Amino acid sequence: MEDKRQDGNTTEYEKICMLCRRTESKTGKMIELAENFCICPDCMQKTFDSMQSVGIPYQELFGSGPHVVMTQGDQPEDDPEQEKEAEQEKKKKSQGMPNISMINLGSIFGNMGMPGQQKVKRKKPQDGPKPEFDIQKIPAPHKIKARLDEYVVGQEHAKKVISVAVYNHYKRIGAGADDIEIEKSNMLMLGPTGCGKTYLVKTLARLLDVPLAIADATSLTEAGYIGDDIESVISRLLTAADNDVDRAEQGIVFIDEIDKIAKKKNANQRDVSGEAVQQGMLKLLEGSEVEVPVGAASKNAMVPMTTVNTKNILFICGGAFPGLEEIIKERLNKQASIGFFADLKDKYDDDPNLLEKVTVDDLRSFGMIPEFIGRLPVIFSLQALTKEMLVRILKEPRNAIIRQYQKLLALDEVQLEMDDGALEAIAEKALEKKTGARALRAIIEEFMLDIMYEIPKDDSIGSVRITREYIEHTGGPVISLRSAPPMLEQKV
Ligand code: ADP
Repeated sequence: MEDKRQDGNTTEYEKICMLCRRTESKTGKMIELAENFCICPDCMQKTFDSMQSVGIPYQELFGSGPHVVMTQGDQPEDDPEQEKEAEQEKKKKSQGMPNISMINLGSIFGNMGMPGQQKVKRKKPQDGPKPEFDIQKIPAPHKIKARLDEYVVGQEHAKKVISVAVYNHYKRIGAGADDIEIEKSNMLMLGPTGCGKTYLVKTLARLLDVPLAIADATSLTEAGYIGDDIESVISRLLTAADNDVDRAEQGIVFIDEIDKIAKKKNANQRDVSGEAVQQGMLKLLEGSEVEVPVGAASKNAMVPMTTVNTKNILFICGGAFPGLEEIIKERLNKQASIGFFADLKDKYDDDPNLLEKVTVDDLRSFGMIPEFIGRLPVIFSLQALTKEMLVRILKEPRNAIIRQYQKLLALDEVQLEMDDGALEAIAEKALEKKTGARALRAIIEEFMLDIMYEIPKDDSIGSVRITREYIEHTGGPVISLRSAPPMLEQKV
């Protein structure tokens, strides 16, 4: 049976030392002095030692000596009868444990604003069953990719690479450590903005039912400087895992905008948000024990701490790497300009998928330090979205934008149709904006506004067909009334 504590919480949560903020699993059995007030043996010993060193006879204080601490409900009064009783009471107590426990320290700390509700979940016993990552249950790479296909359009190579890497990663966890230790398959994902990097990782984490933390590398700085500490990403993962350390230790961390922490060129100051962050991330990527605050992004005295091991956390870094294409092009041109088979100098100028040809050396020239790249062994790129892909993104995925609007209008019993020409026109407009698939939503919102405003006005409308002309502002949508032939080119 689960033991209920006084505060109504089960012992599922760890006790935390009020002085050093460590959890019981780290300190050993806590001494509970009062409700919500625990102290670890180390701190207790240190307190006694320091008292002894300054000559305070603590044995007297807590033992047989005079009663020093005024306790709740134990106020002396002038009544001689009561004084006698109190005297006897004192004698009784002095023979046993210190009467310190009678003070409601919990309420004192509560009044001081000490966080009472921040709790750390106990680590489950290591040898318990782990159904999610049972080796039998990890779906094979082709199954992972098939599920990804339902949501993510195109990006075949990226989906294949990520499926295999994730499969290997969780297989590695399932296999445990024996004589041959399989290395972690952290990933580096390159691709222009809006091509689906974050979306791919989010979908993957949802399918695998693992916690996911998405961090932005631009806000990270070396410890001690303004900005987020590198370890804050682990604390975010812990939050995503509902403070369950076990789940967090098998989660995924996605660090976006990783190109922003490239080594600054010609920097004569200390590079606290660039190279130093890369250096700081090395031990996280490889696997180390990180002490993180629970329920807060930064460490401070008021927040309980817990330890998370990053050995089994999958790190995926992503970035657009602007300027990297120039570096790749320069290298390819240099290679191709020697000898009989020399190519034309502008051969690679119009290659939209130059990022696929990236090498570790290119990334080094970009400003990533070799130790950092070395810890991201799986490097792959996502393609820039083409018009055809954008059209497919509009209608194919399970939660495609068009489907969302169709559902919305269906609630008003109106059918929404899109001409192929209209879809193409939207894709063309989105391409011009150069923000990938992100532009699609903004464009659709713009022209759907009128429709969403006008349609509920008229109950007789049965269906709306969006045409290319409507998108290009040269015509209107085709509106059909219920059980009536379509009325062509009616403007809403
Ligand atoms: P980034 O590559 O900059 O991280 P995102 O992953 O945030 O881009 O993509 C923005 C949005 O575009 C996503 O929320 C998703 O809806 C859509 N999107 C992008 N690429 C695809 C794709 N290949 N398939 C389906 N939707 C996509």
